[in-house]
Amino acid sequence: MSDATPEPRSVLITGGNRGIGRSIAEEFLRRGDKVAVTSRSGHGGPEGSLTVAADVTDGESLEVAIRAAEEAHGPIEVLIANAGITDDQLLLRMSDDAFESVLDTNLTGTFRTVKRVIKSMIRKKKGRIVLISSVVGLYGSPGQVNYAASKSGLVGFARALTRELGSRGITANVVAPGYIDTEMTQSLPEDLQATYLKAIPAGRFADAEEVARVVAFVAGDDAAYISGAVIPVDGGLGMGH
Ligand code: NDP
Repeated sequence: MSDATPEPRSVLITGGNRGIGRSIAEEFLRRGDKVAVTSRSGHGGPEGSLTVAADVTDGESLEVAIRAAEEAHGPIEVLIANAGITDDQLLLRMSDDAFESVLDTNLTGTFRTVKRVIKSMIRKKKGRIVLISSVVGLYGSPGQVNYAASKSGLVGFARALTRELGSRGITANVVAPGYIDTEMTQSLPEDLQATYLKAIPAGRFADAEEVARVVAFVAGDDAAYISGAVIPVDGGLGMGH
């Protein structure tokens, strides 16, 4: 298995200004790729990356951002669809808006982004698409009907895409992190954090870098024959699901 990227590739990471997305951006930069990240403000990507402003719920802003990334680095060869939100509430109390906005960002946002970058991948007969899902997508979690539905939707998405484009040198995979130490999880109540910790066979939470290294592997040449897969990075939390 080689660590080095033979040719620098044009990599796009949605939500690359903080958390897991930022760590993924740093990992691709470390491997020598040309990295563009999106953030809603248009600022905040790691040094060495190009940060472009995009909201994945807004196709126009995505179009402008991806065009800027392509002008700087060439057609997108690796897409990491990472942008995501939670809006937790038990189902009986969940508003339509809370359901729809989570789906719109996590699932439809991925659809908009993948659809925009896929044409040039088809033309080149080469591409890597990695969708950042969650252990919650297959394992479930109370208070997260919207989030779990959006994240399991990504599994069907990647598998359908694999069947559409598998013969064109394009892979589409899902990476499903467990409990990763970022702003998203730091905002959970302490007692809930303690409950999760007890359920994780590894006995610890993970750093975002541990997800980033797996994503970089799945997007690399060594993973050319992996497609439609769900790769857990969860310390065993969701095993069997
Ligand atoms: P953070 O909350 O730290 O970061 C979320 C990122 O998504 C930010 O860069 C944010 O951009 C971006 N984002 C949110 N909404 C939009 C939008 N509408 N358009 C564009 N960008 C948007 O989250 P994490 O780093 O923890 O999570 C990253 C991904 O990993 C998510 O998909 C999440 O569901 C998934 N995940 C996280 C786990 C964890 O334990 N942390 C576990 C499993 C999965 P901005 O700064 O502009 O708001």
